[in-house]
Amino acid sequence: MSTKLYDCNGNLIYEFYRERREPVPLDEISPHIIHALLVSEDRHFYEHTGVMPRSMVRAIWMNIRYKRPLRGTSTITQQLARLFFLYPEKSIIRKIREILMAWRLEKEFSKDEILEMYLNHIYFGNGLYGVEAASKGYFGKSAHDITPDEAATLIPIIRAPAEFDPYKHPDRVLRIRNHILDEMARFGYIESNLADSLKQLPLHVRSPIRQQLGTYFIEEVRRWFIKQFGTYLLYEGGVKIYTTMDTTIQRVVEEEATKHIDYLYKTFDIEDDSLHPLELAVVVLDPYTREVKALLGGRDFRRSQFNRATQARRQAGSAFKPFVWIAALERGYTASTIVEDKPISIPLVTGEIYSPTNYDSVYYGPITMRKAIALSRNLVAVRLGYEIGPDAVVDVAKRMGIRSPLMPVYSLALGTSGVTLLEMCNAYATIAAYGIYKAPIFVRKVVDRTGNVLFEAHNDSVRAISPQVAYVMTSLLKSVVDEGTARSIRYFGFKGEAAGKTGTTDNSTDAWFIGYTPRLLTGVWVGFDSLRKIADHAVGGNVAAPLWARIMKRIDTDDTLKFMQPPGIVTRRICDESGKLATPYCKHTRDEVYIAGTEPHQYCDIHHKPKEHIIEFERKDLLP
Ligand SMILES: [Zn+2]
Repeated sequence: MSTKLYDCNGNLIYEFYRERREPVPLDEISPHIIHALLVSEDRHFYEHTGVMPRSMVRAIWMNIRYKRPLRGTSTITQQLARLFFLYPEKSIIRKIREILMAWRLEKEFSKDEILEMYLNHIYFGNGLYGVEAASKGYFGKSAHDITPDEAATLIPIIRAPAEFDPYKHPDRVLRIRNHILDEMARFGYIESNLADSLKQLPLHVRSPIRQQLGTYFIEEVRRWFIKQFGTYLLYEGGVKIYTTMDTTIQRVVEEEATKHIDYLYKTFDIEDDSLHPLELAVVVLDPYTREVKALLGGRDFRRSQFNRATQARRQAGSAFKPFVWIAALERGYTASTIVEDKPISIPLVTGEIYSPTNYDSVYYGPITMRKAIALSRNLVAVRLGYEIGPDAVVDVAKRMGIRSPLMPVYSLALGTSGVTLLEMCNAYATIAAYGIYKAPIFVRKVVDRTGNVLFEAHNDSVRAISPQVAYVMTSLLKSVVDEGTARSIRYFGFKGEAAGKTGTTDNSTDAWFIGYTPRLLTGVWVGFDSLRKIADHAVGGNVAAPLWARIMKRIDTDDTLKFMQPPGIVTRRICDESGKLATPYCKHTRDEVYIAGTEPHQYCDIHHKPKEHIIEFERKDLLP
């Protein structure tokens, strides 16, 4: 009995079967499939007795003598026999057992029965077992209606599902399809002029094969389930798994990610290397419940099952800075504390000197903490990390939700430790949720076939940072979006209130943007698996943030929502330059938020009086 997977609204999204089969009798299978199979796999199927002794003996001899693989020497009956063994294995003993099994099959079943079993059980790649599922999957029709060219496309997949995957290697599949069509004509199964005209047709497999939404999400749930309850229950238990996935959001994420990749290739003139494509990952979280609403672990699950949102540990670059700022806020720093954006040299215990640089080699000098995070100033982050100590930064990051190991070193402030997108998103969610930490969850409930609840998510809340620190941090991260390195999200059409942080690693190998609104949090990572540079000038702000905007403007349409101010926050009008209370003479002022008790009391000492006024005043005084 299959296990069913539901989305957060109770809609069925997936079923786990042992195998996906739809058995059909032989006379309902298009003869072209059988003909293509015979010319390609086993020309003497109707004549032999299950194995071909001479070729078998030769294969085994070659295996013993020359260590040649025992591949491509099996008859259809032997291939069927192989399906009766649970694990694939290539050894002489196994080969002999297969031969014995094949003989037994030939003795007990007719050739047609063997063919029928074979076609109904064999694997056609892309998760499709049996000829009916394959016909529907690749061509959207029943096995009964398959044409000769379609049959010649399907059959090679059996031999090597990855090698002859029509989606990944269309050129290769087209060549072998045409070869099989020729063979079908040579053996008189079709007219040779028909074969010639069919060979002119393009490969017309249905694309994409299965519109299965959220494959990486489903795989995450599958792995979790097996760890909790084992494989048997998943495939045979008839269990219901209620997940947190929001199908609408998941669909938007997948659609926009596809568009965005094309945009990146075009805009940054990235070389198209199909073996090593540019990858991305997206996580959408509800920051209050920590339910994962959508997850994308890569561009194409069929090509790579490696989940770049939950399994890849990459450097977060500047996306790590909020942890430094939070550690500073907890130690009495404020949004308007003046910090120095200038070179720093830190002597290390090893005797070396650590002297990082700003990525743009520009130094702003004394600036506010707000401006420093909005413009992502590296040297300010390192200086802060030095002043408050790397241990304090590690402590904050861990409280917020980072689970990857973190080394308490000075470069940590620049995000040099490997972390996953999911844990980064969850740590930011702790800021969004006013300082409350919870673990991210994919599953709400698991119910067995008799209605017993096997699992129910009880997501405990832990106070990680104060609501006031969290609120001030959110306010600082709003500046990143409104006046800092993530302004691109406005250009890409997101209008609502938002807070977030970009991240870019050395040599532009990783681009990050993690941002949230009062309702939802979305994190985006872009990069190559091989740590290659994404492109010249590629940064979080122009590579990752635009995808965030594309997604969020479709899933978070209420742009009237504002972040709520908790008690214990005071607002002061301050001078942007001095970080002190504004005077009528200050040029750039703003309403700054403070944790009560940390607000400034002194007035700006840069702009207290205009110079001309002083001169005039003194001149007047000098007059007799
Ligand atoms: Zn001033």
